[in-house]
Amino acid sequence: MAQDNDKKISFKDTLNLPKTDFPIRASHKELDLEMLKRWADEDLYAKAFVAHKGNKKYILHDGPPYANGPIHLGTAYNKILKDFVTKSQRMSGKQVPVTPGWDCHGLPIERNVSNENPNLSPKELILKCREYAQGWVDKQREQFKQLGVVMNWAHPYLTMDHWYEAKTLKALGIFVGKDYIERKFKTVPWCASCQTSLAAAEIEHKERKDPSIYVLFPLEEAAVEKINPSLQGKMVSLLAWTTTPWTLPLNRAVVLKPNSEYVITQVDSNYIIVAKALIEKVARDIGKELTIISLFNSDQLVGAHVEQPLTDKMVPIIFDKGVSLADGTACVHSAPGCGPEDYELAIRNNIEVYSPLTADGKYTDEIEPKDLAGMAVTDGQWAVLKKVSEQGRLLHKGSIRHPYPHCWRCRNGLIFRATKQWFLDLHKESLQEKSVKAIERVEFLPKQSANHLRAAVESRFEWCISRQRVCGVPIPALICTKCDVAYLEKKLIDAIAEGVSEKGIVYWQDVSADELVQAHNVRCAGCGSTEFRKETDILDVWFDSGVSHFAVLKDNPVLAYPADMYAEGRDQARGWFQSSLLTSMAIEGTPCTKAILTHGYTADETGAKMSKSVGNVVAPIDIINQFGTDVLRLWVSSIDYTDDAVVSDVLLRNVQVVYRKVRNTSRFLLSNLYDFDIDRDALPFEKLYSIDQYALRTLFLFSRDIRDAYERSDFTEVFHRLTDYCTKELSSLYLDVVKDRLYVEKSSGDKRRSAQTVCWYILDTLTKLTAPILSFTAEQISDYYQKSGKEESIHLQKFTDLLNVWRVTIDRSKQEDLFIFDHASGLPLGARKEFDVQQIEVQWDVQWDKLFDVRNAVLKAIELQREKGIIKHSLESRVLIFFDGDLLKILQPLFKRIEAKGQRLPDFLRELFIVSQVDILDSKESLEPSLLDGACVAIERAQGKKCPRCWQFNPVQHDAGHKHDLCDRCYSVIKE
Ligand SMILES: [Zn+2]
Ligand SMILES: [Zn+2]
Ligand SMILES: [Zn+2]
Repeated sequence: MAQDNDKKISFKDTLNLPKTDFPIRASHKELDLEMLKRWADEDLYAKAFVAHKGNKKYILHDGPPYANGPIHLGTAYNKILKDFVTKSQRMSGKQVPVTPGWDCHGLPIERNVSNENPNLSPKELILKCREYAQGWVDKQREQFKQLGVVMNWAHPYLTMDHWYEAKTLKALGIFVGKDYIERKFKTVPWCASCQTSLAAAEIEHKERKDPSIYVLFPLEEAAVEKINPSLQGKMVSLLAWTTTPWTLPLNRAVVLKPNSEYVITQVDSNYIIVAKALIEKVARDIGKELTIISLFNSDQLVGAHVEQPLTDKMVPIIFDKGVSLADGTACVHSAPGCGPEDYELAIRNNIEVYSPLTADGKYTDEIEPKDLAGMAVTDGQWAVLKKVSEQGRLLHKGSIRHPYPHCWRCRNGLIFRATKQWFLDLHKESLQEKSVKAIERVEFLPKQSANHLRAAVESRFEWCISRQRVCGVPIPALICTKCDVAYLEKKLIDAIAEGVSEKGIVYWQDVSADELVQAHNVRCAGCGSTEFRKETDILDVWFDSGVSHFAVLKDNPVLAYPADMYAEGRDQARGWFQSSLLTSMAIEGTPCTKAILTHGYTADETGAKMSKSVGNVVAPIDIINQFGTDVLRLWVSSIDYTDDAVVSDVLLRNVQVVYRKVRNTSRFLLSNLYDFDIDRDALPFEKLYSIDQYALRTLFLFSRDIRDAYERSDFTEVFHRLTDYCTKELSSLYLDVVKDRLYVEKSSGDKRRSAQTVCWYILDTLTKLTAPILSFTAEQISDYYQKSGKEESIHLQKFTDLLNVWRVTIDRSKQEDLFIFDHASGLPLGARKEFDVQQIEVQWDVQWDKLFDVRNAVLKAIELQREKGIIKHSLESRVLIFFDGDLLKILQPLFKRIEAKGQRLPDFLRELFIVSQVDILDSKESLEPSLLDGACVAIERAQGKKCPRCWQFNPVQHDAGHKHDLCDRCYSVIKE
């Protein structure tokens, strides 16, 4: 380092220069692989499971991702957040078992498998789907491990595990036993491409373009006579408006608003009827002048009929107060088999629910006109339009863009279709109301996410739990082949659950209806028949995963009910959060979790949500390959999860800079501890130099903030506080200040050991506090500084409890009566017993804050001299300083403590300012006031010669023994 130009003597070997093998840049691929292998070899999870056994448990219940396809950035983001929670809770001393889960039943898997393997029997399909799901579970598990996530990967819960399937049935049995489940013929939202009914939660509204048509429904002659006898013999028609022409063949009524004014008008040669209130709107829409011929009250048409287009069938006119006078014509085409409101109206008016539609959205053979049979309704749209037009019943055709319900999985437009479905009655035992109330008892992160769950639960008016698929938990009901009445009893379900626990859901395929009828003595409640068929519907997968609290947590000696936390993406308010809350409230009467963390979606730099169709998807594995796992994890911590998680190359590079900062800070600490053994060489806290005690204090505050942030799951705070601490408090302050002592002082002397003691605490605390996030790097760092003492993975260790370290330090100071001074008199108040630790801490912080104000003022003054060219390096400075007034009163106790440790105040300040000389003057004559009240500062060039070893300037005339211009300090170090 230092070399004297004249004598060419190197003192490099006499300095304690930093040394470490810890690599400056991680080869992240090697590091990731090495740690993964080590964790696997030593079975880290098994050890983590028993770590802190007997302590309070913390249960994060993993929501099961769908076992279909590789993990994407959103899934990775979710698992890493969960890993932050569990690792930090474990390092706080709790026992933290984590069982990961996978959702394995349901449509997407079944669709993929049947596309690849057409014509499988139901049993073959179930077995193939199992294989398929297991394949993805295995692949995803390896990918999750690659993220550094530590969970019980060897023993996950899969919703297709036989025991889990049996538990799902047991849960259904509980609902059936409490009379929650009913079977109703109902017009339900139906996805023709997924071939299943959909729950409200599975429907998305998005805009689409549809035809907007006005169709004539000719009124029977007797009715024409009633409302306008002069038009007798003419064709007078109700004018109906619709955007779904394919539903016209399913028309079974036209609905009018009761006791309302309607008009007969003429357009070209047609006489048409619309509500008076809508006449202008209709005229605008069809672009024609409408001449009013006469007015009548809709009640005059009670009991009347109109002719349905396409067939010559007469259908009734019915009435409903809900008919809108804001839209259409107020003559509403009603098709009860394909509209939910029409369905309810039909039931009330005793009208046929006509739904000749197949599961894949085609007209059945029952359809009229017959030539539509077999045609998909999407094509039927145009076929029907053509027919109606040829018949002369189409008054006008336009188009409309409007919000239309779509399937949330396949994004196709829905139809409505009447089928028999199973429902979970949300009003039974006030389940919905109780669940909404229970939301108040759950802690939400962020708070406002409670509103999303509340809205989801409140807006749900029923839960259709049946799906017309094969691969899933069966609804084990028996259906009477004579009268279609269903038999579903808890006793039967429990018996099926027994069989399923052994053989899985294929048991339901294998067992015969007769066997069950005999074993359970079943007789039809409708007709007394004993001939039954097995129900073929399966349970909604949201029911499967929704009861995971019952299947996995409840009565599990390893885990516990309720969970401490559920943590998933925002869309789960309508999904898993909701189904879990509803089922737990019904089964247990308490919510299944104490806290719910909700995070945003992953988005690209423009803020667009990542999606395959947009093509902006980033694979987590690509980020790992480019930056390393810990940079990906650090990125997760940098994201405010209350908003969407934006990822871009620039963001990742910024995070990489922070990663390197932390890594280099740790490396600097390591490199100065190469000859330090904490057990052998540490100085007692009370003997530490004042600036080292101060560093311990900031370390304590840093540690407290980080641990608070972990406790609140505020990982962004951890990220920012960590960045700040490494740059501001360590690099540009403490580590800069103590460099001189670490390098120059006698290697085993107190001055250096004092700094090393604190450096060790900083390294240890920093490494442990970052371990939940920088999981691989922290493990690697701890390998170096815990070399001989490392008995277990850093993830099994606890956060350092610095409170005790700090309190010991402060307590000794208190005994020395040097802590608290009366600011007015400057006299010690140490003897006053009533000062508690907290007050002492406040005083301590005030004093040091003031001292750092002084430091900033001095550094500014040095900077000015440097700008003028008077000095080049701060070590060339001599600082003249004078204190008075309140500033001196505040600093006095701190100065006395420093001196009480045997350190000269000028030496202390010299180190603090990183200068060669400090003179504290008795008068401020010749000094300029600094930027700080109470301090006057002047900077001069340091006197004497530059020591070739420590580069400090020394004015003292050396004695004969001092060779090569060494300063006294260096001379005495070398002499020994
Ligand atoms: Zn669909
Ligand atoms: Zn029957
Ligand atoms: Zn020196």
